[in-house]
Amino acid sequence: MNPLAARVARLRARIQRACEACGRDPGEVELLPVSKRQPASLVREAMDLGFSRFGENYVQEGVLKAQDLPGAAMVLIGPLQRNKARPALAAFQELMTVDRPELALRLRHLAAELDLVRPVWLQVDLWGEATKVGGAAGEALDAVLAALEGDPRLPVRGLMAIPPPEDPEAFRAMARLREELRQRTGLALRLSMGMSGDLEEAIRAGTDQVRIGTAFFGTRQAPLVSE
Ligand SMILES: *Cc1c(COP(=O)(O)O)cnc(C)c1O
Repeated sequence: MNPLAARVARLRARIQRACEACGRDPGEVELLPVSKRQPASLVREAMDLGFSRFGENYVQEGVLKAQDLPGAAMVLIGPLQRNKARPALAAFQELMTVDRPELALRLRHLAAELDLVRPVWLQVDLWGEATKVGGAAGEALDAVLAALEGDPRLPVRGLMAIPPPEDPEAFRAMARLREELRQRTGLALRLSMGMSGDLEEAIRAGTDQVRIGTAFFGTRQAPLVSE
């Protein structure tokens, strides 16, 4: 087994143990590999293992990787500036960090112009200054949903968050928010949280997707392109 395949096998076993510990079916938890600052050659190896969707943080890096890797679907998991909305919509199949009404409106405008459909996730930040990762909460979150207005070009798939590490209550708060929004809006919202260091906590709290970088691909390289 090559090093990547061995690492992925260990990761799958870890996810399985975490699911067993709380009585969940491992088939319910999607593993999204995060390939930021990993070479395209390694992503290709992951494609040989059957993965086809990859999380990327930087628009420019995602654009380059999408060109290098036909058949791979890039998922944007890093902050999105309005002025990068056009290349992001073109290169990424899914956008997980929609967190401002202005951004939502810009994306709707461009998706219509480019004649594209792109599933989106709302990035949530319930912790404010503690994390500074971007994201909305409360009325700001409702404002993002209102700005999307059920636009069929940008169907809302779920909520994405980066809860502060080592705070189980933070993960549970996300699960409650998802439930509350589901009931209030009728949207079938999925939940994406949990990274290499805290996937067990996220699975216990009920996440539907974990986004895994280092435990999947190994140590990251220096930035591949300047942002
Ligand atoms: C980098 C990153 C990940 C993966 O982080 P690891 O700790 O390497 O697993 C997941 N989500 C987001 C938003 C990230 O920026």
